Amino acid sequence: MIPYEVEYLRASSVEQALSVLALNPDAKILAGGHTLLPMMKLRLAKPGLLVDIGRLPELRGITVHEDSVSIGSATTHAELEASAALKRVAPLFSLAAGVIADPTVRNRGTIGGALVHADPSADWPAVALALCAEMEVVGKQGPRRIPADEFFVGFMSTAVEPDEVLTRIHVPLPTPGRVSYRKFRHPSSGYAVAAAAVAIDVGEDGHARGRIGVTGVTDTAFRAREGEALLEGNFTDLRGRVDAVVEAALAGVSPLEDNFADGEYRLQLGRVMLKRALLDVLEQRG
Ligand SMILES: Cc1cc2nc3c(=O)[nH]c(=O)nc-3n(C[C@H](O)[C@H](O)[C@H](O)COP(=O)(O)OP(=O)(O)OC[C@H]3O[C@@H](n4cnc5c(N)ncnc54)[C@H](O)[C@@H]3O)c2cc1C
Repeated sequence: MIPYEVEYLRASSVEQALSVLALNPDAKILAGGHTLLPMMKLRLAKPGLLVDIGRLPELRGITVHEDSVSIGSATTHAELEASAALKRVAPLFSLAAGVIADPTVRNRGTIGGALVHADPSADWPAVALALCAEMEVVGKQGPRRIPADEFFVGFMSTAVEPDEVLTRIHVPLPTPGRVSYRKFRHPSSGYAVAAAAVAIDVGEDGHARGRIGVTGVTDTAFRAREGEALLEGNFTDLRGRVDAVVEAALAGVSPLEDNFADGEYRLQLGRVMLKRALLDVLEQRG
């Protein structure tokens, strides 16, 4: 479908974007445009004004601090994939970024756009959940931080208000020493039909604890807490617990269904992706 006529403003600062949002209820933030513009073409979204924040330097880039890494919301998937700093301190980012769609989408799409849009098949939500990320948003009341556990509230729905801007994603350091991301890609879009992010820490005493983020399987990405509970324990025994972790992680889940994958198939893909991710971390040196 042909796009309709729409007003466009390239914001000069986050502050300006916020004041425009406050004055225009039908304005929407534009970052990479790789979700919003297709939705506008299909008339699934019909904002009257686009406020482009995609090139604001204050929203781009990766900064490594002593106890956290901070990622600007307008940082592209490709920048996250290529970052040497992230490969060193939080390698799960480049693992996930490298399997998002194709180079065109990776060069324009942003982590902030993906998190706020919260597509049930998007990759970043699983990573944010597995790495205990906190999303910093700013609105009329000033900045606030939302833990990943409270960020994804339902189908394509997050805790970000329409007049707020997601500015940065903060990930505590050090990140767990053993990580993996496994994804079954939809053959045409590249989105996750099912994917799992696993991040496991093994203490000096050999005690393992970790987090599991699952995406693609249900209407929103989720942390597989029952699986995490079974994962905790002696690392050397984990291989024997893998199947139980997988079963617990996806027990009771209501899978999405579409023309490509019915519920049972999608659930099974989720189990297989999680099992492969767990077997990956068993092979790694922590
Ligand atoms: C063919 C294709 C394949 C794709 N495959 C994948 C895939 O495999 N995995 C995957 O995860 N994604 C995939 N995507 C989605 C892609 O990653 C998008 O770029 C991403 O989801 C949205 O990011 P964006 O910067 O393009 O956001 P936009 O399209 O600009 O915005 C998306 C939504 O987020 C809001 N928004 C954006 N930034 C902010 C912000 N900072 N604060 C508040 N609101 C904001 C916008 O108002 C809009 O509602 C695919 C997209 C396409 C077109």
